[in-house]
Amino acid sequence: MLKKYEKFLKDFDKKIDKYFKEQSEHLCCREGCSGCCEVGDYPFTQLEMMYLMQGFRGLPPLVQEQVRNNLLTIKNNRVSTHLFYKCPFLLNNRCCVYSYRGITCRTFGLAYLMRNGVVKLPECVNEGLCYSKVSKDGILTVEPVKEDLDLPEITNGKLAKKYKLEFGPSRSLIDWFP
Ligand code: SF4
Ligand code: SF4
Repeated sequence: MLKKYEKFLKDFDKKIDKYFKEQSEHLCCREGCSGCCEVGDYPFTQLEMMYLMQGFRGLPPLVQEQVRNNLLTIKNNRVSTHLFYKCPFLLNNRCCVYSYRGITCRTFGLAYLMRNGVVKLPECVNEGLCYSKVSKDGILTVEPVKEDLDLPEITNGKLAKKYKLEFGPSRSLIDWFP
């Protein structure tokens, strides 16, 4: 299943790269910017999680240790499952499993049109980053990506069907760890 998922990701990344190019004048993403990994709940399906852990197993032991420590700290300090947290895989403002990151991670930054007609803006619009110059009070004044990029739409979408993928249940990243 992971081999098929890798093929799916190749196609998916191609499509997302095109969206990033089309929307580039409204985006502020750059090396070292990690706001989208600092506060969130990071939904991951079982398949994405298996792939992420494949990346984790390839990390040097010391880096694995840092991630484990982050996980423990989050788990120990999490008083409610509704609270957002910093992703445990973010080390020194960089994703340590970048090639293995989840689907939602790959779409961070893009504004897109959801199936219900509402435009979803990235959180960092409130920090003066992506789309902040072309939106006011949550209303976008330019065309967003015309595809619903919410995780369930993608895991049930045409491309996932083409590769006959079974993503399994979705949980907040931290909840995959006992
Ligand atoms: S897996 Fe990587 S890209 Fe995704 S939220 Fe965590 S640090 Fe960010
Ligand atoms: S989505 Fe926003 S916070 Fe994340 S890298 Fe891009 S500009 Fe930075």
